[in-house]
Amino acid sequence: MVDNSRQKGVNMTKRALFVLLVATMPLLAQQNPDWHREFPAFKIAGNLYWVGTADLAVYLINTPQGNILINSNFPEDVPLIKKSIESLGFKYGDTKIILASHAHGDHDAAVGIIKNETAARLMIMDMDVPETESTRQGRPGAKVDRILHDGDTVELGDSKLIAHKTPGHTKGCTTWTMQVDDAGRKLNAVIIGSPNVNRGYILVGNKDYPQIADDYVNTFKVLNTLPVDLFLGAHGAYFGLKAKYEKMKAGGPNPFIDPAGYKAYVSEREATFLKELERQKKNPGSPAP
Ligand SMILES: [Zn+2]
Repeated sequence: MVDNSRQKGVNMTKRALFVLLVATMPLLAQQNPDWHREFPAFKIAGNLYWVGTADLAVYLINTPQGNILINSNFPEDVPLIKKSIESLGFKYGDTKIILASHAHGDHDAAVGIIKNETAARLMIMDMDVPETESTRQGRPGAKVDRILHDGDTVELGDSKLIAHKTPGHTKGCTTWTMQVDDAGRKLNAVIIGSPNVNRGYILVGNKDYPQIADDYVNTFKVLNTLPVDLFLGAHGAYFGLKAKYEKMKAGGPNPFIDPAGYKAYVSEREATFLKELERQKKNPGSPAP
């Protein structure tokens, strides 16, 4: 009996360690130098701007009533975001609303800082709210001012964004869409929340998130039906930020208008998810590599 309960204890400790490891993975992965590397702020199209780092996306939507920011990155990235906003001639203090792609530290760890420094309202998809507000496992936590649901709109000035719940990567992972008026041309912007199955994710028999696989399936259905002109996402790597930025500087048609690239990316990510799902169905309990 003693040995048995001791073994149980060891298993539980192992499990707790594993859970901790998975939960802090975005923090451990801070080593990716592009995450904190400065990148020039620039206009993507219309009133939509890039103010993120060389990989972590932060979008600024400028309106006559102030600005919306999507994502905050890590606290250490906030000075770069401020610098980017100011370099475009906007004011950090004019941030009225802050949104997020999903509740992982690389996108939302600094939302509380930005909220406090600017008095912006924080709006987060329902199922990501507990994570955003949590102070567990080193997360800073931030009070959510408005809880969003699938299909909700966020409006400021003349801009309207739609929150599409695209869960799986997190339970409240959000893909943002908006119509951008680019010199009289209406462009559909899609900012993908994340279609990725991270290392350690369990798709089959996941006790904490039983519907995870179905959520991914539905997410790909949504991503496959959205009208797209501007292909964007939570990481620059999703849509080839650096190469497109260089192309843009060289002139010619806007390289971020890339519906074919979007389709190819979503198809490839969907195939990768389905392959991993099949692998886990054959090896239940085996986490994603
Ligand atoms: Zn993530």
